[in-house]
Amino acid sequence: MPSRRVLLGGAAASVAAAVLPSPGARAQTQPRVVVIGGGFAGASCARALTRLDRDLAVTLIETETAYVACPFSNAVLAGLRGIEAQTFGYDGFDGIALIRKRAVAVDAERRRVRLDDGTDIDYARLVLAPGIELNFEALPGYDAAAAEIMPHAWKAGPQTLLLRDRLTAMPDGGTVVLSAPANPFRCPPGPYERASLIAHYLKRNKPRSKLIILDAKDAFSKQRLFEAAWQKLYPGLIEWVPLSAGGRVTEVDPATQTLATEFGSHKADVANVIPPQRAGAIAQVAGVADRTGWCPIDPVTFESRLQPGIHVVGDAAIGGAMPKSAFSANAQAKACAVAVAALLREREPAQPKLINTCYSLVAPGYGISIAGVYQPRDGLLAEVEGAGGVSPLDAPPEVRELEASYAEDWFRTITGEVFG
Ligand SMILES: Cc1cc2nc3c(=O)[nH]c(=O)nc-3n(C[C@H](O)[C@H](O)[C@H](O)COP(=O)(O)OP(=O)(O)OC[C@H]3O[C@@H](n4cnc5c(N)ncnc54)[C@H](O)[C@@H]3O)c2cc1C
Repeated sequence: MPSRRVLLGGAAASVAAAVLPSPGARAQTQPRVVVIGGGFAGASCARALTRLDRDLAVTLIETETAYVACPFSNAVLAGLRGIEAQTFGYDGFDGIALIRKRAVAVDAERRRVRLDDGTDIDYARLVLAPGIELNFEALPGYDAAAAEIMPHAWKAGPQTLLLRDRLTAMPDGGTVVLSAPANPFRCPPGPYERASLIAHYLKRNKPRSKLIILDAKDAFSKQRLFEAAWQKLYPGLIEWVPLSAGGRVTEVDPATQTLATEFGSHKADVANVIPPQRAGAIAQVAGVADRTGWCPIDPVTFESRLQPGIHVVGDAAIGGAMPKSAFSANAQAKACAVAVAALLREREPAQPKLINTCYSLVAPGYGISIAGVYQPRDGLLAEVEGAGGVSPLDAPPEVRELEASYAEDWFRTITGEVFG
């Protein structure tokens, strides 16, 4: 039986509007759902849609040929893992019309997406899953050129390798400065997992060095667990400077590798600037992002509060207590697919219940986690009281080791499910 997958790139994509989705006659008769972004959210949603209703015509638009996953990318920085283990192709997307192009505009009224080669694609419903973009406007001195000197590594790939190489080249006795943004941002525990694994690398390879975290917050995810682990594993190595002690970075100077705060400035040998973020550019262009830069959604259908017919899932969406994680992105994508399939068949969408678990590695064989359950309440995704929690503070080493192995298992399972 011939594969139902359609791979379009280069010149072939210019005929996409005429022929999509495949196969042939289905395109004329079945409603087309277009998904923009083939990350944890978009790829999960496209797959779920075809599974739920094989008669839907599903098109996935992704600009990259391969996806580099952020979860576990902090282990790459610490030399514990290769970037290949983070990289996934788009070969297993049978039944989905995959277009390797950038979506550059959305005409919400005419229900049409424009690609970077000028092709237009019509949709019955659009799912936007573009992830984040770095909000350079929110941090004076920081832009794409500065990121080549003071890497963010908040989108995995070349930035991850750049930061890893900076750490490798730093002499012993150097100072690493990591700046963490205010909420909301991608992966709330991510900066602190990163600090932990960089500390692990420094302790083993450059023991006279230190790490300063400049934080725009006074509290962070799994804080007590991280701080207890830092005291035990990396005493004196990590200094956390909260907002109230002058942690918020107000400006950076790549020429001198300096990060300025309201209370003074810090010169780094290696600077890792994690800047403020907002929904990916196409969300801003499509008019689904509000003044916060994020996309408010209905918690049952994930339909935009600002543009009918457009749904937003993953990091770009905002609508309550659910953190921006790959786990959440995958859960939201599946709930959104159920709602989109129902709406297209004129059925009432069901109320979803969504789970998130975020594992963090503090060192190899030392894992901690936070879990939560979320459901629609008062127009938002609210946390179900008493349903989640964090790892125990006083757990024995065997439990930390088990959690580290659960983290690996989770990553293998989710990437297998999403990227095949
Ligand atoms: C260091 C770090 C560690 C993390 N660790 C964890 C973890 O342990 N567990 C966890 O659950 N989460 C973790 N996360 C968070 C997780 O990576 C994100 O929450 C997740 O990637 C969000 O998925 P997404 O699909 O919304 O966005 P993305 O993964 O960013 O995917 C968006 C996709 O859309 C594409 N795209 C964007 N715009 C366009 C366009 N206009 N046209 C076509 N394609 C487009 C992009 O190329 C990209 O492939 C971590 C993040 C970081 C930075």
